[in-house]
Amino acid sequence: MTIYADNAATTKMSRAAIEAMMPYLSDNFYNPSSLYSAGQRAKEALECARETVARCIGAEAKEIIFTSGGSESDNQALISAASAGARAGKRHIVTDGIEHHAVLNMLKKLKKDGFEITYLPVHENGIVRPEELEAALRDDTCLVSVMYANNEIGTIQPIREIGRICREHGVVFHTDAVQAVGHIPVDVKDDNIDMLSASAHKFHGPKGVGFLYVRKGIRLTSFIEGGAQERGRRAGTENVAGIVSAAAALKESVSSIGEVSARITALRDRLIKGLSEIPHSALNGDAENRLPSNVNFCFEGIEGESLLLLLDDKGICASSGSACTSGSLDPSHVLLAIGRTHDVAHGSLRLTLGDDATEEEIDYIIASVKDVVTRLRGFSPVWRDLCSGKLQHIL
Ligand SMILES: *Cc1c(COP(=O)(O)O)cnc(C)c1O
Repeated sequence: MTIYADNAATTKMSRAAIEAMMPYLSDNFYNPSSLYSAGQRAKEALECARETVARCIGAEAKEIIFTSGGSESDNQALISAASAGARAGKRHIVTDGIEHHAVLNMLKKLKKDGFEITYLPVHENGIVRPEELEAALRDDTCLVSVMYANNEIGTIQPIREIGRICREHGVVFHTDAVQAVGHIPVDVKDDNIDMLSASAHKFHGPKGVGFLYVRKGIRLTSFIEGGAQERGRRAGTENVAGIVSAAAALKESVSSIGEVSARITALRDRLIKGLSEIPHSALNGDAENRLPSNVNFCFEGIEGESLLLLLDDKGICASSGSACTSGSLDPSHVLLAIGRTHDVAHGSLRLTLGDDATEEEIDYIIASVKDVVTRLRGFSPVWRDLCSGKLQHIL
């Protein structure tokens, strides 16, 4: 049995997404900027994809620009809002400590360029409190960036409320919605969002394609200079096949959100219940305000990396921390931000379910994790010290 439970890292392309892209890789390969009719047909496909994507998030087509993915969208949104802020003498940005590195590392760079960054706490449940956000806003705040849903612990932020506060205070609001779009309902107008980042490979589209929503009236500075594609906001010949495919994937994902999320939420809760039976374990993130597919646990006395290798032997693909931090010895910044100690954070496991997960697979995962955790604790000097009382249990 092979079970792919790492859908927050990337998803398998849907059949619809693969089929949609094929014609634009072969017979209809033309450059959409070309004036002959074949080029114009590629242009029409591109604009039709833009229309589809816009409709999926409650936007207008001209508010969508296509990019190479979530990281680029995040980078461009932050750079653009920061430079607009700087022109108006506003150099303060508000965010939180559990953002993706595409946001956090860009903000570090902006800090070096003279911006002041406020990091809001997310508390034990991983959620920003709107009243704390409102209190952090200042006359010189030019941007708030808070992610829609977290890629590690799956917590969903009170985006509508945060958006409302930003709108009231005239501050631009960006949200990294890479984990949300295609998985939970997102409506940029209802949610008071000014800029939103998304990535196709997180909703069964191809890698290397994403988009940025920019509300009408917000000026976007280009990030990649060159030709006048994307109405001068993102240079480079458009990835027509990828974009058409992304639109097909998103349309399909959005149309099945209700059905999929009800089913997957039930499986998620079954998995959470099963893993909670492991002694000295804890769920990370909020039990309620959580993505339908996300389960994240800490187990005392073990190393996440060893857990992953033994689960791999059992045919289970999972993750510990985020894909970007695994390989480094630093524990996840997200787990530290919700108050886990370094030791506990090292023993983490993230399972993110696919749309086609079954009850049988969930039960197999529960049995496998129980077995592997027990085995690893058998070899663990830390676990021995915890059992003998030399170290104190935290969980
Ligand atoms: C995956 C991810 C990104 C990066 O998207 P890419 O398309 O891989 O660049 C950014 N933010 C979040 C929350 C993500 O999960």
